[in-house]
Amino acid sequence: MEKQKKGVRLEHISKIYNDPKTGKEFYAVQDTTLDIEPGTFVTLLGPSGCGKTTTLRMIAGFESPDEGEIYLGDEAINSLTPNKRDTAMVFQSYALYPHMTVYKNMAFALELRKVPKDEIDKKVREAAKILGLEEYLKRKPKELSGGQRQRVALGRAMVRQPAVFLLDEPLSNLDAKLRTEMRSQIAALHKRLQTTFVYVTHDQTEAMTMGDRIVVMKDGVIQQFDTPQMLYNYPCNKFVAGFIGSPQMNFLNVVVKKEGENLFLTFGTYKIPVQKPELEAYVDKEVIMGIRPEDIHAEESFLSISEASNIEANVDLAEMMGSEIYLYLNCCGQKMVARVPSRTGIRADDMVKLALDVNKIHVFDAETENVICH
Ligand code: ATP
Repeated sequence: MEKQKKGVRLEHISKIYNDPKTGKEFYAVQDTTLDIEPGTFVTLLGPSGCGKTTTLRMIAGFESPDEGEIYLGDEAINSLTPNKRDTAMVFQSYALYPHMTVYKNMAFALELRKVPKDEIDKKVREAAKILGLEEYLKRKPKELSGGQRQRVALGRAMVRQPAVFLLDEPLSNLDAKLRTEMRSQIAALHKRLQTTFVYVTHDQTEAMTMGDRIVVMKDGVIQQFDTPQMLYNYPCNKFVAGFIGSPQMNFLNVVVKKEGENLFLTFGTYKIPVQKPELEAYVDKEVIMGIRPEDIHAEESFLSISEASNIEANVDLAEMMGSEIYLYLNCCGQKMVARVPSRTGIRADDMVKLALDVNKIHVFDAETENVICH
């Protein structure tokens, strides 16, 4: 019988710790409310110390929240110990038993639960087959590569057939090539199992490529919970805008001006026309203009669209990336980066004319840093 899919719901969850340096209490996670739909792959993304691991450990039951309630499906699980929760955690360090074979590592949790031997055997072999570990079952962890060990750790979680997989930076000990490989393996595994995955990472590429939805966190607080595409195109504030995307979005200090019925974003000698009625309330005020490096163009076809949205900038540095060049620019004292095709042939120290795509401009409040309009 197919297992019922379960989601995870956090309702006003907080975790308070004591800062060992100052001795003061602080919120590692603050008033987090989150509804993870059954069967989705959700990543928790944010810089070091933002509370991702603490959130995951509270779902697993290794930490208890100081405030709020956690639900697995419809069941409140705060009072359940980790082994009573229908979750399985995969750790960054793999946490394999070094003296046990791969087979035993995967079988062990089921043995403790007194699952019949033939059923254990079936589950272990099935997981080993999916993960490509069949020929390594008799080896000990130290006889495996990092990627293979990580697959054993995944297998150990799989045999338990949990309703929710909890993965804490599972790829961070692997080299870049293996990470890419394992990334697609984990995504394929999720597709196959159709189970809920909650995946912690500080790597935006992992989050963007693997997650159905991403929770962006900062200082223990959820900033935005959305699909990768929405986060990229419609960030809710400057932090999310800057955290997602590489090279990161450019931020320029500009002043909103109005002439007749027309609105402009002005800086240096430039007056960029924008059709954003939300800016009416900001006339003569400073705001932050955000524009992604790929929305600054060097080619004639873009330059000829509108003279008014063209700028001139000095190329401080040109980084050749193959098909593209990253241009590190200085325009009226403001620094920005543009990604342009390498065939444009632009080099360091050139003075270049560039076109800003006005349809791709984001504007943020200078004080709150919340988005005003996209
Ligand atoms: P990283 O990516 O570095 O693992 P994270 O986003 O997972 O970071 P957490 O490990 O959840 O962050 O930690 C959140 C905050 O809580 C950090 O400031 C951390 O130093 C602090 N913290 C974590 N565990 C404890 C603890 N047991 N006692 C005190 N402070 C803690």
